[in-house]
Amino acid sequence: MIDTIPLPATDDPHDAPFWSAALRSELVVQSCEGCARLRFPPRPVCPYCQSTAHQWRVLSGAATVWSYAKPSSPLLPAFEALTPYVVVLAQIDEDPSIRIIGNLVSPAGGGITGVDDAGLAIGAPLRVAFRQYAPDVALPCWTLLGEAVGE
Ligand SMILES: [Zn+2]
Repeated sequence: MIDTIPLPATDDPHDAPFWSAALRSELVVQSCEGCARLRFPPRPVCPYCQSTAHQWRVLSGAATVWSYAKPSSPLLPAFEALTPYVVVLAQIDEDPSIRIIGNLVSPAGGGITGVDDAGLAIGAPLRVAFRQYAPDVALPCWTLLGEAVGE
């Protein structure tokens, strides 16, 4: 039985820079040196031009809601304990073909449970935020742009 949320391995050489950047609260994707296109998730070869040369580009963290879900039972026990929560599929501003999944969180901090999602809608503006789950794992999450601290 899985009783903790599954966490990614962060030592794969192809995506280790993504996880290192996340620990610094930076959202990065690969930028192909062959065709200049951005790609995510990380992979060794560009799917557009087959070049293996790439750099890591820091994104602004700006995105919009492409889709979202509010999971309900039956869930794995570790997720059941976290309900209610919202999973967002965020379309990044720099390249609409890139969508990154993450939980909705409050800009004031805290976890994923019971976040105010009153402004949640397809197309709503988001900003990336990071939550650390282990010494080597920070996961990208998303805040609704209209929900600023202290408002
Ligand atoms: Zn390419």
